[in-house]
Amino acid sequence: MADTKKKILIVEDERKISQVVQVNLMMAGYDCDVASDGEEGLRMALTGVYDLILLDLMLPKRDGFSVCKEVRKTLDTPIIMVTAKEEADDKVMGLEIGADDYVTKPFSIKVLLARIKANIRRFSGEVVERVAPEVNEDKIVIRELVIDNKNFRVSKGGREIELSNKEYELLYFLASHVGEVFEREELLGKVWGYDNYYGAMRTVDVTMSRLRAKIEDKPAEPEYIITKRSKGYYIPK
Ligand code: CA
Repeated sequence: MADTKKKILIVEDERKISQVVQVNLMMAGYDCDVASDGEEGLRMALTGVYDLILLDLMLPKRDGFSVCKEVRKTLDTPIIMVTAKEEADDKVMGLEIGADDYVTKPFSIKVLLARIKANIRRFSGEVVERVAPEVNEDKIVIRELVIDNKNFRVSKGGREIELSNKEYELLYFLASHVGEVFEREELLGKVWGYDNYYGAMRTVDVTMSRLRAKIEDKPAEPEYIITKRSKGYYIPK
């Protein structure tokens, strides 16, 4: 249906890449706009209405980090950062400044489409099948922490805590399985909704550290979400 087409902004200075991506996204049923430098990308991101932004890191005029930071001041549109292999360390930084995900060049279109789909689905609040049957409680209380799943709110000691979508879903997932330990691979599948892609484990770690910074008194000595050495994460009973 034409009126429900999702719209994606591709910010990429290499025309060959942006063309291949654009053609493939359009064949997959998306609408696309392309910006070829960081300034143009930022302007389009702020003035257009997009369901997702695919953001290259190395761009003329303004790099992907800067664009991401600026966009995040006003919008929470999902952003997938595109980095070259040699920029691997930059991925983590990208996630820390507010990107939702990343892919590494050269990427396969299949992987890219899966990531795009998962990020849009998550953002639009559509239920992820694998998670749905297990998580349907309206309210979970763990000591000071109250997770109100009707209104998607979290508070601690009566004070509201602002969480991103993924931080919320990660917390909610663990909280609805108190006492169970989950490996990062499992969390990636359950919470992010995609299968184990190489390198994506860092996504779990980064989101976890942001979540802990918000809900724990001392994030280095967490009381709510515990790391079980070489096993995974859990919320104790
Ligand atoms: Ca580039």
